[in-house]
Amino acid sequence: MACWKREPFALERYKQLFEEDWIEGQSDMVMGWDGEEEQHRESAWTTLEHYFRETPIKPDERPEAVEVCAEAELPGLPRLIGIIDLIRAGGRIVDFKSAAKTPDVDQLAHQNEVQTSCYALLYRDSTGRMEQDIELHHLVKTKTPKLVVTALGPMTDHQEMRLYRTIESYVEGMERQDFVPSPGLHCSSCEFYQECRRWNGKELCPGAIAG
Ligand code: SF4
Repeated sequence: MACWKREPFALERYKQLFEEDWIEGQSDMVMGWDGEEEQHRESAWTTLEHYFRETPIKPDERPEAVEVCAEAELPGLPRLIGIIDLIRAGGRIVDFKSAAKTPDVDQLAHQNEVQTSCYALLYRDSTGRMEQDIELHHLVKTKTPKLVVTALGPMTDHQEMRLYRTIESYVEGMERQDFVPSPGLHCSSCEFYQECRRWNGKELCPGAIAG
């Protein structure tokens, strides 16, 4: 955002904003820190600071867009709406992610394909141009933080076709209320896990509907 506003790179200023946001973020909730807030705050800042120091984005590189909401009309399908974290100069779409361990680079393209292909469609529809690249910037929150930047390349025709077929399948499933659980590794971060576990196989699955 500082690059967008043509502000100078200032780590101390970012630290100050981080501290303010840390307090502001807790203003309307009670956090159960178990006496470890300082540790978590330090760890969060250390990870962020690592990103600021290691990011391949130069301080003078002005982005095309930051946190931009875009929409695209898809033939015969619902309108696609999304928010893209960052579009670097030259049409390089960036998605920021955090991870507890180093991601498996070979699987990243597959695991993130629906999301990254949606971003590519949104970019193309909004600008009339093809994206130059799609990058994933993973902040790995290990004891010594790491930054893993993965360039996936622009969306291929093959990926675009897969995305359309996937959306068609989702829409058809919604229309016939085909809400059944699809258990997998993703369940570990699902907020509807308990509802999903209670599904009796007869009624609609509340977890799958909500998720
Ligand atoms: S609703 Fe959640 S817990 Fe159930 S299958 Fe889907 S992701 Fe897993």
